[in-house]
Amino acid sequence: MPDKKIIYVDNNATTQMAPEVLDAMMPFMTEYYGNPSSTYPFSKKPADGIRSARKSMAELLGCDPAEIIFTSCGSESDNTAIRSALATQSGRKKIVTTAVEHPAILNLCRNLEKQGFPVVYLGVDSKGRLNMDEVHAAIDEDTAIVSVMHANNETGTIFPIVELAEIAHQNGALFHTDAVQSVGKVPICLRETKIDFLSLSGHKFHAPKGVGVLYRRRNTPYKPLLIGGHQERAQRAGTENVTNIIGLGKAADLLLAGATQEIAHIRKLRDRMEQGILASCPDTFVNGDLENRLPGTSNIAFQYIEGEAILLHLYHDAGICASSGSACTSDSLEASHVLQAMGLPFQSLHGSVRFSFSRYNTEEDVDVILAAMPKIVKTLRDLSPFGRMNESK
Ligand code: PLP
Repeated sequence: MPDKKIIYVDNNATTQMAPEVLDAMMPFMTEYYGNPSSTYPFSKKPADGIRSARKSMAELLGCDPAEIIFTSCGSESDNTAIRSALATQSGRKKIVTTAVEHPAILNLCRNLEKQGFPVVYLGVDSKGRLNMDEVHAAIDEDTAIVSVMHANNETGTIFPIVELAEIAHQNGALFHTDAVQSVGKVPICLRETKIDFLSLSGHKFHAPKGVGVLYRRRNTPYKPLLIGGHQERAQRAGTENVTNIIGLGKAADLLLAGATQEIAHIRKLRDRMEQGILASCPDTFVNGDLENRLPGTSNIAFQYIEGEAILLHLYHDAGICASSGSACTSDSLEASHVLQAMGLPFQSLHGSVRFSFSRYNTEEDVDVILAAMPKIVKTLRDLSPFGRMNESK
């Protein structure tokens, strides 16, 4: 256990597993350990459990259970969709994507570029939105797949994926969306769209880490990434991660029962926090498309100070876990590629912090953040000559 009370507002990074999810998983870790592919009755429980999880996921996404492929994570689903499209769209080599995708897409595309596949990285405006004229111009008869995320993980900006899928299809291309951040936050009914592939990841909505889904529209041409046994109707080889799949199904059931209340809850907390910070800390503004954004995500620019320094203070002064867009996982403090693509000025680029809420956050959490933030901002601005020079009086 952590040595202090933690205020966890980094739910776009990962979420706490729901207790109901753990309860549903436990019997499959202990009692029902049979291989779901075995034919004796002892394996019926795990096989039935997977079937019911598939049904729950399909209900959540508005598709048929047969269109759900269980994978190990969002990254695997992303990789499978793009590589499958390149393998099946003969005569077409181009990928059209955006400059603000998650590395699961961006680094894959950079890798594929080296192998000779042309990639177009569409730019975004200052709110993180695409220019639809540029979208039309980029998709042509050489395009195998268009891949645009449903919602951005850093700013929460939501993309018009239903319209983008139409445009892709008008040009004979497939359409994939990385919906890792939007599941349970933005309702979707896949059967009313032309989306071919959709990726999601369990750990972003209170299921365990290490399980994801690739939605594949019925009849969309497909080539598996993992070849081997006939699991998942030969679409993804490997003995199923039964326990995690059961957890994923339970997490989907919880959303089916409570997503509407959850969305209202996180939006209320996010908005109060945001308004409180903007009112109490000078020279701050919110990044992203404020009219079209995930309900629980807030990316705030604190001008003239370092996001990393704010994060250290948040944690050490008040136990608050938030995040900045800096690529600190790669040992560099390069500014966020998303905020760079949005053209943020230098003094805000390095001072942006993302707060992301979940069903487990409370009004008290917001009180703690609002009590801590003005002091931290003042301390850091006082320490920085740049901050002292520029701060509004
Ligand atoms: N796509 C987006 C938008 C994400 O935010 C993430 C994780 O943060 C991923 C993909 C990768 O998901 P996973 O960690 O399940 O591979």
